[in-house]
Amino acid sequence: MSYQVLARKWRPTDFSEVVGQEHVVKALSNALDQNKIHQAYVLSGTRGVGKTTIARILSKSLNCEKGLDSKPCHECPTCISISEGSFMDFQEIDAASSRGVDDTKQLLETVMYMPSSSRYKVYLLDEVHMLSPQSFNMLLKTLEEPPEHVSFILATTLPEKIPATVLSRCLQFNLKNLTPTQLNERIKIILKEEGISFDDGSISQIARAGRGSLRDCLTITDQAIAYCNGELTDAGISEMLGTLSFDHVNELLTSVISNDAKALLLQLRSISQLSVDYMRLMDLILETIQHLAVAQISPESLLDIDVKKEEIILLSNQLTVDEVQILYQIGLLAKRDMDLAPDIASGFEMALLRMLAFVPKEHNKEGFKKKLSTPIVEDNQQEENLSNINPIQDSAPRSKEQEPIEEPIEEPVEEPVEEPVEEAAIINTELDSVRTADETAASKVKFLIDDSNWNDTFKLLDLDLGTKQLASHCSFVRTDDSIIYLSMPEEKLELFSGKHRQRLQESISIFLGHECNVFFESGEDSNESPNTIKAAEKDKIRLEAENAIKEDPNVKILLDSLDGKIIDSSIEPRDSK
Ligand SMILES: [Zn+2]
Repeated sequence: MSYQVLARKWRPTDFSEVVGQEHVVKALSNALDQNKIHQAYVLSGTRGVGKTTIARILSKSLNCEKGLDSKPCHECPTCISISEGSFMDFQEIDAASSRGVDDTKQLLETVMYMPSSSRYKVYLLDEVHMLSPQSFNMLLKTLEEPPEHVSFILATTLPEKIPATVLSRCLQFNLKNLTPTQLNERIKIILKEEGISFDDGSISQIARAGRGSLRDCLTITDQAIAYCNGELTDAGISEMLGTLSFDHVNELLTSVISNDAKALLLQLRSISQLSVDYMRLMDLILETIQHLAVAQISPESLLDIDVKKEEIILLSNQLTVDEVQILYQIGLLAKRDMDLAPDIASGFEMALLRMLAFVPKEHNKEGFKKKLSTPIVEDNQQEENLSNINPIQDSAPRSKEQEPIEEPIEEPVEEPVEEPVEEAAIINTELDSVRTADETAASKVKFLIDDSNWNDTFKLLDLDLGTKQLASHCSFVRTDDSIIYLSMPEEKLELFSGKHRQRLQESISIFLGHECNVFFESGEDSNESPNTIKAAEKDKIRLEAENAIKEDPNVKILLDSLDGKIIDSSIEPRDSK
């Protein structure tokens, strides 16, 4: 049998095997198990995160002959033919190559015909944002009244290029890039199953090079297996990718930070003997400096980074926050200019020497050198250094080694909490307590948005002004677990672009403490949207003000004696804006 590439061989066959997209998988599985079938989905996300894979699984789930649920059988002819790509009622169309009106017309004509042998005809439009505006218009007409036997899956890397009118007919899911940890774990599982030996460094390098895409990682792994003759090593992968391992990067930065020009030059010389991709190496240095900045602010956040946390924290302790920023800036500018240098290696060398020049000389103290280079724990000093490694204890960025003792060590980090605006005063205490409980993660109380609390919840969402203004026309419709259905008048919906949707969805997710999806329907401006409630409240206050004026005995006397009249529109409540 011919060799099958890993990405194909290990393509997930059902939702339980999909890595890193729990929020999408959960929502889709629930919907399928409850027989709530949407007719159009948008799956967005960068390349290689699982859009077409999820579309295929969805199509199997919809059509499996053993029954419609989230776990297709993989055995029936339908499941098998979808896996093999020969299923008649599953059409995968590359919108990038057939974007014109004629293609779309031809496609949509087939929509009316019943599926040949299955429940649903599934159309997967890949890279759907490439469709021409006319094509989108035609698609919209079909999406407005799709035949019952049809399901559309629109996959895209650029959801913001899909017209809002089309988006509003679809259930949208944003697939996330995979974290280095997720990639690491997945590659390791696959290599173990394949019986291929590897070391941790090699997997870290592959995960980093894949930049969030599992497919890219597996492609690199395929190459690596061939290149390293079936035994993946840190050094082998470095050679193949033309990069250096974290240890090299760490050594370079250590020399820069400890102001050790001699050591730095020696390292640069030995690097120049290897065939190194200097641009990529500069990327690694920039990534590492970024980790240093994170380590200074919140070492706990390094958990999901596949480099050696202890060493990052140790390095970050030797620099002030400003110094880290300067190093980053130098690296970034150098990357831009490296092509202009006489040769790229010398451009790289100059960049590191410039970094070295900017690190203050007083760093070059005995104690500091010891801290960085003594491998054996031998005295209290060293022990103290090790205790610095503890990310929880030592969260405040440490400034320079020889700082005067009277300096307070703890920086006053707690900035005053912003004065809550008037609206926040209405915070429903119940909401608040549930939220706090959720945040402490101590209890698993699940807060559900419903009719009665939508308005209060909306006030608490962290939204920019534009999104807030538009979203205030949303009324709550219903929710099933991780999908929240909101409705909005058609004309507002058209203005509510992908950017606004994304923000609203994100802030609701943050508020709820878990990933959720928001689905918009067009509907009348109901009297339950935050906007109408606010308007009603305003009217009420205004009416009260009018009544107060009319009932006021002094005003009555005045009116009687002067034979006056109150002009209602001139009355303004005292605190109205
Ligand atoms: Zn089946």
